[in-house]
Amino acid sequence: MKIAIVGGGPSGLFFARLIKRSQPGAEVRVFEQNARDATYGFGVVLAGPARDRLREVDPESVDALTEAMVFSSTQKIGLNGEALLLDYPGNSGAIARLTLLQILGRLCADVGVQVVHDRRVEHAGDLDGYDLIVGADGANSVVRGIWPEAFPVRTQQLDNRFAWYGVDRALKPNALIFRYHRGGCFIAHYYTYAPGLSTFVAECDAQTWTACGLDRMTDAQRKALIEHIYADVLDGGRLLENKSVWRRFDARIAERWTDGRAVLIGDALRVAHFSIGSGTRLAMDDAVALHDALVEGGSVAEALDRFVAARKPVRDLFTDATARSYAWYEDVRGAMQTDLVSFVHDFLTRTGRVDDERLKAYAPEFYARHIVPRHAHNIALGLSA
Ligand SMILES: Cc1cc2nc3c(=O)[nH]c(=O)nc-3n(C[C@H](O)[C@H](O)[C@H](O)COP(=O)(O)OP(=O)(O)OC[C@H]3O[C@@H](n4cnc5c(N)ncnc54)[C@H](O)[C@@H]3O)c2cc1C
Repeated sequence: MKIAIVGGGPSGLFFARLIKRSQPGAEVRVFEQNARDATYGFGVVLAGPARDRLREVDPESVDALTEAMVFSSTQKIGLNGEALLLDYPGNSGAIARLTLLQILGRLCADVGVQVVHDRRVEHAGDLDGYDLIVGADGANSVVRGIWPEAFPVRTQQLDNRFAWYGVDRALKPNALIFRYHRGGCFIAHYYTYAPGLSTFVAECDAQTWTACGLDRMTDAQRKALIEHIYADVLDGGRLLENKSVWRRFDARIAERWTDGRAVLIGDALRVAHFSIGSGTRLAMDDAVALHDALVEGGSVAEALDRFVAARKPVRDLFTDATARSYAWYEDVRGAMQTDLVSFVHDFLTRTGRVDDERLKAYAPEFYARHIVPRHAHNIALGLSA
């Protein structure tokens, strides 16, 4: 069996390793347009439960990734100068995206996968002769583009603007800071992902973009503005760039997952919005599901049908949660018109998947200190909890 994987991101590399490990006789080749030492973005988070699940599939990979992570179980949420420190028992691990890819790349090489860097797939002809083609090529998938009739795509362009920066220091604690500045609503989401390095995602709503003149600025001026607004949290640190362009998020969903010998996984299938912080693990979970479907046997077409049947319900659930999450951010100006505790509660429950019971497990201290007294107060007033 000859397998071509387009894209050496988390989904493509993890799938390549898993399938080559299970089927050593298969020829497995990954085409990656970037050089070995290049990627976009900075650090990403992989939560504890996701790591535990993936460890059952491939302990060697997950242990190697975990060793390169920094951990935190707290997050500060700030609103208009006030803040709450939340404790999440989940223990999120963060890792440089490049480190994650390099580790997975090394583990692919260990089992005999050929990872071809600096090689951009452009045409159907580049993929001739393969029994299986895996489109793991991210949000702007070229595989989808090569066969547009097979893989129609639905796109919703969001109105908020964002840019993904790094910071040249470990910002502590991890935080999400919502802040007004000259009538604009700004969001900074930052977390440490390596000693002396943090991710910093800056965002503003559409009204802010024009009212505060960001629409007329260069990216360098926008970066300077964010450094000014968040000077206190940067604490003398500078924002670092890596293709850090201000843009609108394109929420893309491929309407079909497979066609003949081709299949999509990861962001190529459905782009995970960064506000749910789960894109990497969804991509890796797709890789596991595709691997499992293939090793069950039968024809490629049967295996791809099994992959869709197994994975689609989960992806549908997350697509819904993602949409609710970005809708909340799109209306962040409205959400910010409240007190801090209500705001934090609103934020934590924005996907519609976190009810009272889940909130209690997810953020027990916040729940005990702020929500239980509110419920008691409401009951005393004869209102529903
Ligand atoms: C601001 C921001 C913050 C994020 N933070 C987090 C986070 O904290 N946690 C988390 O889990 N997720 C996060 N994500 C999401 C996460 O990065 C993605 O969901 C994840 O990387 C998807 O993996 P993938 O393998 O499907 O695609 P990608 O990681 O995008 O990989 C696709 C690869 O394909 C290559 N490629 C593309 N086209 C071609 C071609 N024609 N030929 C050859 N190679 C090609 C690309 O160079 C790339 O290496 C964040 C995303 C953003 C934008």
